[in-house]
Amino acid sequence: MNAQILDGKAYAQERKQKLMEEIHSLKSLTHEVPRIFSIVTGDDPASYSYATSQQKTAESVGIHYELKIFDLHSSQKDVLKLIHELNGYNDVHGIIVNKPLPANMDFKTIINAITPLKDIEGMNVLNFGRLLLGEEGIFPCTPSAALELLKSSGIGLKGKKALVIGRSEIVGKPMALLLLKEDMTVTVCHSKTIDLPSMTRQADVVIAAIGKPELVKGDWIKEGAVVIDVGINQVNGKLVGDVDFMSVRPKASYITPVPGGVGPVTAVMLMSNALKAFKIQRSII
Ligand code: NAD
Repeated sequence: MNAQILDGKAYAQERKQKLMEEIHSLKSLTHEVPRIFSIVTGDDPASYSYATSQQKTAESVGIHYELKIFDLHSSQKDVLKLIHELNGYNDVHGIIVNKPLPANMDFKTIINAITPLKDIEGMNVLNFGRLLLGEEGIFPCTPSAALELLKSSGIGLKGKKALVIGRSEIVGKPMALLLLKEDMTVTVCHSKTIDLPSMTRQADVVIAAIGKPELVKGDWIKEGAVVIDVGINQVNGKLVGDVDFMSVRPKASYITPVPGGVGPVTAVMLMSNALKAFKIQRSII
């Protein structure tokens, strides 16, 4: 067997087209488009370049995007002041806080200052709580992207065994909760797990969100499993995932590549969350 590729780039393109059409038709109805505000703090070039790519994606689907940059002399109080203002603006539907933040700022304090309806990254404690309770809400983009790609394989998820490697708040934990919401039987592994390969070998679906280049090997994978690689690692100037693609592909039925897998879909999920936030705020859903 040689796994079929779950092509994130192509999927993201289709998803963007659908978003664009929906935003266009909502504009005819409401005379408005979603408007989102992205905050960059400090001088990290990665944060700025991520914001630039968000802007491109937003504008390509018809979402109005504004960027606010706080320099290194800014304080957490300055950022919180802006967030409180944006919370109160009826025509701002989503707020993004780009990471990393400078040492004088605390991500949790800042993200929790965003009103949950405008928390389009799904990182606010209330949205997290909704996910935990299995309720509807706005959920983190990367695990949502991984789930969409997994579903695009067409395999039924109900009752199957899913193994999530990684328990971070941004990927692993929400991933496990999203899979549980799909009625999967979910196991979470992490850096303290004993004998990870014996765990992965039992799984019908493996989601790797570790941050360790090509850690997951072919002989860790059950024949025919679906493997979703969330990892993004730079090795000798090349991007690689957490999965050893060459050895895993012959064992799996479906696999996501890196680059071109979960990454491009994540960017679109942020815009999908922005649209959802807009619709909730305008009582359209
Ligand atoms: P993190 O460092 O916050 O968490 C990594 C997790 O992996 C931890 O829970 C840790 O316990 C676990 N882990 C570490 N070593 C392990 C090992 N040897 N065995 C088992 N578990 C181990 O990272 P993160 O923010 O969750 O990101 C994970 C990966 O996903 C990174 O490569 C990151 O770059 C990537 N990522 C991709 C996207 C995307 O859009 N595709 C978005 C966010 C993160």
